[in-house]
Amino acid sequence: MKLHEYQSKFRFSEYGIPIPRGKVATTPNEAFLIAKELGSPVVVKAQVLVGGRGKAGGVKLARTPEEAEQHATAILSMRIKGLPVKKVLVDPASEIENEIYLGITTDRAARRSVVIASAAGGVDIEEVAASTPERIIRTHVDPFLGLRDYQARNIASDISLPRQYWKPFIQIALGLYRCYQNSDASLAEINPLVVTKGGEMMALDGKIVLDDNALFRHNDLAEIRDTDEEVAAETQARQAGLSYVKLDGEIGCMVNGAGLAMATMDMTKLFGGSPANFLDIGGGAKSDKVAVALRIILADRNVKAVLFNIFGGITRCDEVARGILTALSEVPTTVPMIARLVGTNEEEGRAILADAKMITAASLAEAAQKAVNAARQHSTK
Ligand code: GDP
Ligand code: MN
Repeated sequence: MKLHEYQSKFRFSEYGIPIPRGKVATTPNEAFLIAKELGSPVVVKAQVLVGGRGKAGGVKLARTPEEAEQHATAILSMRIKGLPVKKVLVDPASEIENEIYLGITTDRAARRSVVIASAAGGVDIEEVAASTPERIIRTHVDPFLGLRDYQARNIASDISLPRQYWKPFIQIALGLYRCYQNSDASLAEINPLVVTKGGEMMALDGKIVLDDNALFRHNDLAEIRDTDEEVAAETQARQAGLSYVKLDGEIGCMVNGAGLAMATMDMTKLFGGSPANFLDIGGGAKSDKVAVALRIILADRNVKAVLFNIFGGITRCDEVARGILTALSEVPTTVPMIARLVGTNEEEGRAILADAKMITAASLAEAAQKAVNAARQHSTK
């Protein structure tokens, strides 16, 4: 789960990181009032959960409240990389002397968190990483010791930060690390961290990505999830207790078990197809869950065939088959359905589905091939 810039920065400020004292507006008039209250030039910033807003025209400087209102009108009617802008952050504008990059993420290979810093912060950090990787400083953090003062000081020195800024920089880096840890984040990033002309350090932009697997212990964070900004199908799936990730292929996959779902996607690829989604319907596979899952899969216009790959363990295959039929009766479609059922009572299960004109298969390879063929035929119709 991603947090918006304003959510990220408000959270940063709880960890002692200075941020501009801006506010969020959902209408141009609110933006006008906030700009008036701030009483200075402001920046109006689109709040969308994608990067590169600045370059897309989603960050605009306004000298007057009227101008802030105009920019808010324009920005609130934008889509950035396909996502609608529903809120803007109105921040007092800063006069920037220097833009630094500071981020923390997980380095899986090193099994540690890593602090990433660069003197060349701003909108082109990816470019810096690609063309001048030596300008990116990486520092691993011992999970038991946490980020130490001396490490933050070394980072400040390595990015050639003038000495008078070391103290605030160290405070910001340690604060960011604590925020990252306490939030169970997979990313906490400030880009840019600026030195202003007035000699202050401040987080002008912020980004936090939370580890969904740890959200259960952060009710306050789970509550601020912005479902407007998610793929609608992923929201519906989460609410139904399904693990679903939309992909770009044409074969919808309905599978019980995450490992089996991965194997199913691999097999689909092996036979020349491409999965439309990852979906783990979990244990049980009751008909109501299957129906929700089927609706989600079929709502994707790219889907040309649906592959059911079900392992019947405690749940018997005949039960699952009836679940699938109930679901199918609720979600009428002409998209071909291919089912592979194995495990307890598999023959009964297959017979039920074959009666219902579903294509059945005994092995995953056979099922994947049949699904790929069925998808090709269906798309030429
Ligand atoms: P992003 O494009 O989504 O990363 O949005 P940012 O909030 O990082 O803004 C992009 C760029 O706009 C920054 O790197 C700054 O150069 C500039 N910018 C943002 N806020 C201000 C501000 O208050 N004053 C000035 N002068 N520039 C700003
Ligand atoms: Mn930025």
